[in-house]
Amino acid sequence: MNALNNVARGSKKIVIIGGVAGGMSAAARARRLSEDSRIIVLERGAHVSYANCGLPYFVGGEIGSKNKLLVATPPDLESKLNIEVRVHSEVIDIDTASTAVTIKDSQNNIVYGETYDELILAVGASPIKPGLQGIDLPGLFTVRSVEDAESINKWIEEFKPSTAVVAGGGFIGLEMAEQLVQKGLKVTLVDGKEQVLAPIDREMASLVHSELQENGIKLVLGASIEGFLAPDSLKNQSPPKSCFVKAANHEPIPADLVILGLGVRPETGLARKAGIAIGERGGIKVNDKLQTSVDHVWAVGDAIEVLNPVNEKMALIALGGPANRQGRLVADNIFGANKTYKGTLGTAILRVFGLTAACVGLNETALKEAQIPYQMVYVHPNDHASYFPGAERLDMKLLFHSESGKLLGAQIVGAQGVDKRIDVIATAMKAGLTIDELADLELAYAPPYGSAKDPINLLAMSAANVLAGLIEQVHWNDMNAISRDKNNCVIDVRTKKERDRGYIDGSTHIPISELRDRLSEIPTDKEIVVYCQSGQRSYLAYRILKQLQYKVRSLSGGYLTWSAGSKVKESRSSVFA
Ligand SMILES: Cc1cc2nc3c(=O)[nH]c(=O)nc-3n(C[C@H](O)[C@H](O)[C@H](O)COP(=O)(O)OP(=O)(O)OC[C@H]3O[C@@H](n4cnc5c(N)ncnc54)[C@H](O)[C@@H]3O)c2cc1C
Repeated sequence: MNALNNVARGSKKIVIIGGVAGGMSAAARARRLSEDSRIIVLERGAHVSYANCGLPYFVGGEIGSKNKLLVATPPDLESKLNIEVRVHSEVIDIDTASTAVTIKDSQNNIVYGETYDELILAVGASPIKPGLQGIDLPGLFTVRSVEDAESINKWIEEFKPSTAVVAGGGFIGLEMAEQLVQKGLKVTLVDGKEQVLAPIDREMASLVHSELQENGIKLVLGASIEGFLAPDSLKNQSPPKSCFVKAANHEPIPADLVILGLGVRPETGLARKAGIAIGERGGIKVNDKLQTSVDHVWAVGDAIEVLNPVNEKMALIALGGPANRQGRLVADNIFGANKTYKGTLGTAILRVFGLTAACVGLNETALKEAQIPYQMVYVHPNDHASYFPGAERLDMKLLFHSESGKLLGAQIVGAQGVDKRIDVIATAMKAGLTIDELADLELAYAPPYGSAKDPINLLAMSAANVLAGLIEQVHWNDMNAISRDKNNCVIDVRTKKERDRGYIDGSTHIPISELRDRLSEIPTDKEIVVYCQSGQRSYLAYRILKQLQYKVRSLSGGYLTWSAGSKVKESRSSVFA
């Protein structure tokens, strides 16, 4: 039975702090559930209900006007939903004993109080601005609000910058880097880690590195930002260099514009002050109904800690989808639905020029940290039938539990069809499907869209073979040591044409079509590792040799994964059978 059939209707005064993703979703749902409740949204900024996910594209010009970002304005919300929206209204205090908040109205310069029956904290997160030298210099911007994007646009218009540094290679940093390149700026991206996009593993991120570099972005990786210098000699230049970015072990990088994409921190100041419990990860602590430690106070969005169902640990996951769904759930629960928030898998996606990168669940680093035994497979199928024009390669990685086969995470990079595949895996993870069930999914197929065995089926079949012991694998990062070891014999089973384009040092070439006839060349006293371009033909080679009692393993993902991980240049167009 639908829980909301039993919702106890009633008039409540609901006060919501924060009027964007989580807050406005809660407000709209609350109104639909209760026509006679009073709903007040308090927002310290100038706008509510705006698309902060669209901000980079507003800076780049792909979204042509600010109005397009404003999903709903206060008058819309008042007239359609009868929600009282107060902008420029910052809540500066919560008195949970008297169930009241104190509001500073910066437009009218007044401070006043408002009581509540139910209070929702949807206060979001704030961009991290480390206390580095020069952090307050002009020309340095964070990207969180419409005002931030407008300030960047104003700077670009006024000073016509030609160089930019994006500090931080996370999702927002990469979106901004792409957009600034499209605006004609010369962009350097600096990150303290050796890779961009920390949620995906290094070999997958390296595909994104190539795309960034091919589009003119200079990558400075493994170089933590140490500060921002404004050399006097440049003060009077036009356009002014806003600063030089100082990164560890790197000469100062000149920048007319700097974007700080160094991550976000949950906004917890107000909650802490009110004595609302903060969790172990530094976000507002909520239970599975999204109630805080204080009665009648709820919290949603980037400000809260959520359960990561993969490692069953609390996590900070700042994403728009979860914030919206949490807002809706809280409104339901306020009206008695008693719904449970089951956690956030961290499904995320990003366009980087011609590529899309997406992930869900945990990556290898997180699985190791959580001490979860895992295995993984890589496949590189085309996004749709190879014989149909326009097929593009997908690079896919699936992580699964070594014993149970439970899905633990996935990462996909490709030119097209990535969104569909990551969402199928996210759905499968949510539903608790096994590898075999994922392999057995019936997915839509016609040549322009997929293959009779969809890339998802192939990925899962490959994992199922590992679990069933039908193949023993090695991975890209073991390969160099394996090929150096005299006790091993590495065999490249690709065609001559493929090998001519590059191969793993120390490997012997025996194309798959000749393998059965050239068995005498394969030593019986060594461990054999076979590889091909993507891992498909080496699986066949593995099966042939295994059945002949060779001690053999196959390189998962083949030369494509090895070359990505080893940073060997390999064209994306290299799609082989
Ligand atoms: C540039 C950018 C791009 C993004 N792209 C994506 C994307 O592509 N996909 C994705 O899933 N997520 C994306 N996100 C993340 C997503 O926008 C956030 O996860 C989501 O907005 C969080 O919702 P929220 O309601 O918790 O916080 P927010 O949407 O940030 O809203 C919080 C609001 O609370 C207000 N507030 C805070 N304190 C107070 C106070 N004391 N009084 C009154 N008001 C207060 C703030 O002013 C703010 O407007 C992006 C974020 C940014 C900044």
